[in-house]
Amino acid sequence: MSAIAQNTASYFMELEEAYGAHNYHPLPVVLSKGEGVFVWDVEGKRYYDFLSGYSAVNQGHCHPRIVAAFTEQAQRLTLTSRAFYNDKLGDFEQYITNLLGYDKVLPMNTGVEAVETGIKLCRKWAYEVKGIPENEAVIIVCEQNFHGRTTTVISFSSDPSSTKNFGPFTGGFLRIPYNDLSALKEALKQKNIAGFLVEPIQGEAGVIVPDEGYLAAAKQLCEAAHVLFIADEIQTGLCRTGHLLACDAENVRPDIVLLGKALSGGMMPVSAVLADDEIMLTIKPGEHGSTYGGNPLAAVTAIASLQVLIDEDMAANALELGAYFREALLKTASPLIRTVRGKGLLNAIEIISKDPDAAWKLCLDMKEKGLLAKPTHGDKIRFAPPLCITKEQLDECIGIISNSLNCLNE
Ligand code: PLP
Repeated sequence: MSAIAQNTASYFMELEEAYGAHNYHPLPVVLSKGEGVFVWDVEGKRYYDFLSGYSAVNQGHCHPRIVAAFTEQAQRLTLTSRAFYNDKLGDFEQYITNLLGYDKVLPMNTGVEAVETGIKLCRKWAYEVKGIPENEAVIIVCEQNFHGRTTTVISFSSDPSSTKNFGPFTGGFLRIPYNDLSALKEALKQKNIAGFLVEPIQGEAGVIVPDEGYLAAAKQLCEAAHVLFIADEIQTGLCRTGHLLACDAENVRPDIVLLGKALSGGMMPVSAVLADDEIMLTIKPGEHGSTYGGNPLAAVTAIASLQVLIDEDMAANALELGAYFREALLKTASPLIRTVRGKGLLNAIEIISKDPDAAWKLCLDMKEKGLLAKPTHGDKIRFAPPLCITKEQLDECIGIISNSLNCLNE
């Protein structure tokens, strides 16, 4: 450590390597500043951010309205715990339930806590409303799902890197193929089915977009079977796919909605679960919660983050520029691109190459040219810029991506 000059990129990378757990494999770039669609590294080089903190900074980095709301509240009151009321939580609860059209919201922090909360709510409802015998409830989930990293949530993952040597696992889940209505129909015939937990688009799996009509038909099947349709909109929600919720594109109203990430515009972990009273009121005082959940700083930050998305019409921008982006990538006709897919500004390409490291190398080359993206599952690269990106900026980015594709092909 001591041989490396302080405050250089190598120094910061070595520092993380030496003292941090090795549970990530970052691209070799050390960031120290962000504004809108841009981030800057410690040497002052500017990049387009095409990951947006895994879609947590849909509003753009350090959005001035969100920063202002956050800093003002941070100087007043940050945390009371839910042992007491605070004068901000109710405002947030009223705002988000009106915006999304649900009776109630339950605030948590990280995305995976929202998923855990959704699972617990679904089970409570199953036992206390639907009448499933205790400890028998089953929730249907999909192959290739990604819902987070807790032991219960990885219990139903099909990705060996998420599960290997982390057992024993939690039972009560039934996995079926994604985008397969007949598999869902069959699964719903089984005994004691309480819910169907689904990502409207599978983000981490490489932006897998189901067939048009899948969500609407799946919702209908669930309704007919008296089973809760639980939408994990943690990555797809909040304008990312061109609608406030990805389910809106098919006029689907989930029974339980899970939100996180962009709910706080990248300021702090804020997540939320929305449902109607029949479901939400099955949880009674003392049965679920979190020290930080519903804190006034989070409440104020979340309202500002939602207002920015609405006031700046980020859904419309994502819808329009997303279609433009996919068309432009298809036009590059690069032999390295197997597929281009996505919705709104949640997109991915699949790389075809004999070199198993091609996607990583492409990301390194794009980094040199001023654009940051990260491969997922080896050969897929997600392109998800902040939703405030302009057409001119996107044109520049399309140029960078095509140039890098050409370089790699040489
Ligand atoms: N659900 C989905 C669909 C996600 O994409 C993620 C994170 O990428 C999560 C849940 C977990 O969120 P968090 O990392 O905030 O726990």
